[in-house]
Amino acid sequence: MAGDAGAAVLETRDDAPKVPEKKKTKFDVIIIGAGPSGYTAGIYCSRAGYDTLILSGILPGGQLVNTTEVENYPGFENGIMGPDLMIDMRKQSQRMGTTIIDDVAADVDFRRRPLKVLTASEEYEGRAVIIATGANPRKLGLEGEEKFAGRGVSYCATCDGPFFRDQEIIVVGGGDSAIEEATFLTKFATNVHLVHRREELRASKIMQKRAQDNEKIVFHWNSIVTEIKGDQKMRQVVLKNLKTDVETTHNAGGLFVAIGHTPNTQMFHGQIDLDGDGYITLEERTRTNVEGVFAAGDVHDKRYRQAVTAAAFGCMAAIDVDKYLTEKPQ
Ligand code: NAP
Repeated sequence: MAGDAGAAVLETRDDAPKVPEKKKTKFDVIIIGAGPSGYTAGIYCSRAGYDTLILSGILPGGQLVNTTEVENYPGFENGIMGPDLMIDMRKQSQRMGTTIIDDVAADVDFRRRPLKVLTASEEYEGRAVIIATGANPRKLGLEGEEKFAGRGVSYCATCDGPFFRDQEIIVVGGGDSAIEEATFLTKFATNVHLVHRREELRASKIMQKRAQDNEKIVFHWNSIVTEIKGDQKMRQVVLKNLKTDVETTHNAGGLFVAIGHTPNTQMFHGQIDLDGDGYITLEERTRTNVEGVFAAGDVHDKRYRQAVTAAAFGCMAAIDVDKYLTEKPQ
């Protein structure tokens, strides 16, 4: 009895010496990034029994956190808000056992084993790493751009085009993405105004021809957007002709910015193979040129860039990791 009482006293004393809990830093799999690809990879890796860490980065949830309604992610009859979808994916991954730390991976060392991922204060070790850091759409840098993001301004026609039925739409850019988006948006818009800063498109000839043959696409050459106007929603866009300096105001419900993406691969330069645009190049399926390092989502995919394809790549990377770790002796 006395012994028990003593233990109770020790447990409740405020000044009892506390042994700091040692932070866990060794994992089977480290996933860098917490968009649809990172969370899906987390779900699959944890469910397969691997001790898995997600370092979620600056913006847990990725690009979908800046989106409003998502209508094209399967499983949600009435759509779902982007941030809600990402919260659910995060919880699902945690329920499977994934450790999620909201910290930013600042550096990696893939030259030694185990693989290392470093934040400002910690060094994590993993037997395998999945890079799911995504890509960010390039911005115009205009004042109203952020204010009207999700309220007229969009960076993804496939995602948001159907919200702009029977409205005038502006598309900025002259590459394949801009032409593809402009062409896609003619399904919904009354007219699509393609605004390009030069008088020659960068897009491939076949895509150019397709756009030029489309009666709904109006070209505004040598032009840039100088202002985005509106109230609760975007209502107007001001264009400036760079040759004449003349500004014109256009009523429009949507402004799609398609001036390229920047993959989040700065810390991987010199560590893994990247293409000329900075995207990760894959050797086979989701495998990079470095043993044990895999990539999933927009960080290597410049073509599809959808939440559902990113999630699918996350699943594929996790399955590839499972195969790799199963075949590799500890
Ligand atoms: P991109 O080829 O880099 O084109 C970006 C476009 O935006 C260029 O026309 C550029 O103008 C313009 N631009 C850049 N910064 C600007 C700014 N601040 N203000 C106004 N305009 C600006 O990017 P992308 O179209 O996203 O394509 C990326 C890659 O994916 C390419 O290799 C492309 O071929 C590929 N892709 C392929 C397909 C397909 O095959 N179906 C579809 C989409 C993308 P300038 O021309 O004056 O530099």
